[in-house]
Amino acid sequence: MNVLVINCGSSSLKFQLINSDTEAVLAKGLCERIGIDGKLTYQPEGGEKTTEDKAMPTHTEAIQFVIDALTDNERGVVASLDEIGAVGHRVVHGGEKFATSTIITEEVFKAIEECNDLAPLHNPANLIGIEACQKLMPGTPMVAVFDTAFHQTMPDKAFMYGLPYEYYEKYKVRRYGFHGTSHSFVSKRTAEIIGKSYEDTKTVVCHLGNGASICAVLNGKSVDTSMGLTPLEGLVMGTRSGDIDPAILEFIAKKEDMDITALMNMLNKKSGVQGVSGLSSDFRDLTAGAEAGNKRAQIAIDVFAYRVAKYVGSYAAAMNGVDAIAFTAGIGENVCLVREKVCEYLGYLGIKLDKEANATRGEEIEISTVDSKVKVYVVPTNEELAIARETVALV
Ligand code: ADP
Repeated sequence: MNVLVINCGSSSLKFQLINSDTEAVLAKGLCERIGIDGKLTYQPEGGEKTTEDKAMPTHTEAIQFVIDALTDNERGVVASLDEIGAVGHRVVHGGEKFATSTIITEEVFKAIEECNDLAPLHNPANLIGIEACQKLMPGTPMVAVFDTAFHQTMPDKAFMYGLPYEYYEKYKVRRYGFHGTSHSFVSKRTAEIIGKSYEDTKTVVCHLGNGASICAVLNGKSVDTSMGLTPLEGLVMGTRSGDIDPAILEFIAKKEDMDITALMNMLNKKSGVQGVSGLSSDFRDLTAGAEAGNKRAQIAIDVFAYRVAKYVGSYAAAMNGVDAIAFTAGIGENVCLVREKVCEYLGYLGIKLDKEANATRGEEIEISTVDSKVKVYVVPTNEELAIARETVALV
């Protein structure tokens, strides 16, 4: 079956058409600047990547252009819409309502809508994408795959904040976690690589991208993860602060005369390695800067790696041991220096890094030595493929 995977943001929409039998990507692309002017990037398998300006006042036009490209006589990859068996939608927040992926019915749509205030920037955009697809492909089954669902197995000791219980009861203020599709995909693959049953493996997955989170996967279930009610908690990220002393908010607010909106903007967009380095949120710039002697770039990389190592250590404690650690996403797959720095802290777990293997970028590889007590891997994530698999399993 061919599955169209859609990842819809407020002004952009990423798509892939995946053949679920061969798991080949038949075509992929991106609609950008939706609601502004509109740009479609499209690439069929083995073909040339094209970019064209297309008027996209709403997501409906954007999806229509995607369908037109996929079914086009020359550059298309299917003869008609009938050859698309299902659509898998990435949905950011499923709250406590969704512990698994689900077929989208009217009821499910409403339940996702009810999670909007937990992810006001993401969920409404995801729903717009679903609506647009439903309009243009009314007979095709649609599936929602949630970033939060994998973490619904966390026990209450991991998901409760030390706040008045009434906020959990009234507003569902608790830790949810994100990147669940990636953590699930990578932890499964890690168990396969080490040749152990998924249900009998302790893995720590380090999803280190611009947004970054860590997950403790015990016997196939997420038991803790570093992001919380929102993706702001946990690691120091590209531009997000991660964990801080909450009292800093009042302190900075008074000193800088900032209101809550300005503070949240600072924590989400001006902090992280960008804020510390004052140079960039991108690790390519940071590593180049650090090599050239930029002190703040060096500090930013150290702060990032130290926080990762502390979380890995705490999750080894939470699971009473760890069999394997997997690095994934843009930084996890490509930045050898970060992996090396993290593993240096983890010598007490019996981890020994194979420096030569660690010099590899962007491919699946074991980076620990044969005598390392805990195995360490780079496992490229593939959220689109994971969404396609979930979608096929449900339809
Ligand atoms: P997201 O999906 O959260 O936007 P990604 O997983 O794409 O993030 O990761 C983006 C980050 O990964 C970039 O900011 C950059 O720091 C890092 N990155 C990606 N590719 C490379 C590379 N080849 N070398 C070094 N860093 C890279």
